[in-house]
Amino acid sequence: MSRRHRAGRAAAELQPPTPEMFEPVRCYGCGAADAVPLATARDDFTGKPGRFSYVRCTRCGLGYQNPRLKLEHIAGYYDDDTVAERVEAGWRWLLPAYRWAVEGIERKRLAIVRRHLALDDGSAVLDVGCGAGRFLRVVRRTSGAAATGVDFKDRAAPSSPDGPEFRQGLFCEQDFAGRTFDLITMWHYLEHDYDPARSLARARELLGPGGVLVVEVPRLDSLTRWLFRDRWPGLQAPQHLTLFTRASLLALIRRAGFEVVEYRACGSLPAYFYFFTGVAFLWLGGRGLNLDRAILPYFVGQLLALPLRPLGRRLNLGIQTVVCRPRA
Ligand SMILES: [Zn+2]
Repeated sequence: MSRRHRAGRAAAELQPPTPEMFEPVRCYGCGAADAVPLATARDDFTGKPGRFSYVRCTRCGLGYQNPRLKLEHIAGYYDDDTVAERVEAGWRWLLPAYRWAVEGIERKRLAIVRRHLALDDGSAVLDVGCGAGRFLRVVRRTSGAAATGVDFKDRAAPSSPDGPEFRQGLFCEQDFAGRTFDLITMWHYLEHDYDPARSLARARELLGPGGVLVVEVPRLDSLTRWLFRDRWPGLQAPQHLTLFTRASLLALIRRAGFEVVEYRACGSLPAYFYFFTGVAFLWLGGRGLNLDRAILPYFVGQLLALPLRPLGRRLNLGIQTVVCRPRA
């Protein structure tokens, strides 16, 4: 059976979530229970059934899924198939374009870091929500820094003895035995976190003197959210639990004991990704993105959109990145 059919069948077989699978939560930012409706989203990426409610805290403005899917049920909404595997399986001739796009993301991440921190073979780097571990492999290759990754799913390929160290599990439950890090990165992690304030506080404890934390998340008060509304790809229901405006993200980070040294209304993920998937979600109406069919139009569109890239960096398109240091 082809990968596409397997994925389609898995999505169709999943039953809609029942009310017992959800739990009410208070605002992660200020603890208030008062909130107004913000969005009703579906799993537009895979087409799995279910509707997920997001609210906006009336006290601090943070957006969050409420009621939220309980932690023990969320793993079923993370697919094991990666785009890399699909390209390998059926689109090998697209591999150079795919590698160019993916490595471009890691290069941008390194460039953001290097504005604030010089990494060398004496540095220690921790990537929270490391996924397949691509960023850490680039860090290790280019600087020789000790690289550690944590992800709740075990998606990283086995590492060579001198490659990054990968840990599977929840970030706050990891025991680093007194180790500290010079750089902690959270590339599209914090919006998935069941306790973002606690994770930020833990990151602060784990940073050594002069350490830097980088957080990149979707931005709710953005052009693409305004365009796509409840089909905004930044909602990514039900995986995304928290939705950050610029103000609510900065407030949460400051409350965790950090001072913000740089704010960018862009990041490593190309804003084009949100335009492409937003248009696709409107078109598909909740049927889910068929990656095998979307890969070629995605890359063709990305090439055509290249001349617009400098313009995109000046607009607020839906990605935000914060660089911060522990407050003295
Ligand atoms: Zn609040």
